[in-house]
Amino acid sequence: MPRVIQLLKPREAVEVVETRHVPPLAGEVTLRIEACALGQLDWNLLTLDAPPRLPLVPGHEAVGVVEAVGPGATLRPGDRVLVTPLASSCGQCAACRGHDARHCVNASWRGVHVDGALGTHLVTREQALVPLELPLGVEPLPEVLPRQLAAALALCGGSLWTAVGAVNALGLINPSRVGIFGVGGVGHLAVQVARALGHRVFATDADPDRMALARSLGAEPLDGPVDAAVVCTPSTQALQQAVRLLRAGGRVSLTGSSPTGRVDLSVADLVWRGLTLRSGLLGTREDLEESVSLIFTGKVKPIMELVSLDEVPARLWALRDLGFPGRLVVLPA
Ligand SMILES: [Zn+2]
Repeated sequence: MPRVIQLLKPREAVEVVETRHVPPLAGEVTLRIEACALGQLDWNLLTLDAPPRLPLVPGHEAVGVVEAVGPGATLRPGDRVLVTPLASSCGQCAACRGHDARHCVNASWRGVHVDGALGTHLVTREQALVPLELPLGVEPLPEVLPRQLAAALALCGGSLWTAVGAVNALGLINPSRVGIFGVGGVGHLAVQVARALGHRVFATDADPDRMALARSLGAEPLDGPVDAAVVCTPSTQALQQAVRLLRAGGRVSLTGSSPTGRVDLSVADLVWRGLTLRSGLLGTREDLEESVSLIFTGKVKPIMELVSLDEVPARLWALRDLGFPGRLVVLPA
């Protein structure tokens, strides 16, 4: 029987629940989930007073193999795909028509509007799944992925894609001084991405353990002006600090999203120093391919703790501890 992790009632513990095998409908596929990551966002959703849906299956970044296909689906059994936070887009709005579905105004998001991927199987529309393209030079993958690789690839669907998207959105051509603000789930990846692209990386985080992690990944403590900044925390103070530290003509890229965050920035300061603010969800399709390459070449090594499905209810509480910088990656098999 398929099994999933479900939140059944607000503010209660999640449970491992057996479900029925449901055949995929038109345009849908059934995936066998090889790995699914859990991060701070999942924790936030699971602990809301009024969760967006109940029962709630979390999990918005995963890797899986197609087991069955519904009528009209183009994926084939055996195809390996990345499951990303975007579950579907309308195909009609300006963003969709501009090939930028991640900013679709009618998007549905996995683990929020539809079930997430945290279970042995996921039946989902194939529309927003991304076939895993192997970088040049990589041998065809075995039928069953090694655990570590499956876990690392799961992060390509969300966290690493976001980190690569945010660094690339800076549009830096030459090696630069890049500040990373916040060294958590996305930040510790952004440090590695910026380093892999040849930048000198400076990091800041109030937590000494996270700063130690940043140093171990090759970042220096932030001590002065930078050419560009990636803000990987919803903290509005971090954004203000980043803007303050930018050199003239500098660029800042935002990833953390806080529903209540409001920023006090001087318009004159932005204009007179010629600063650029970039923001966006996830990254482009090219950024996603790059994130897969970074994993296969070992240039990015995510911090993660591998757990089984049965361990999730107990280990989920580790995410509450903001000091845990990485992801809990669940291997459901
Ligand atoms: Zn749309």
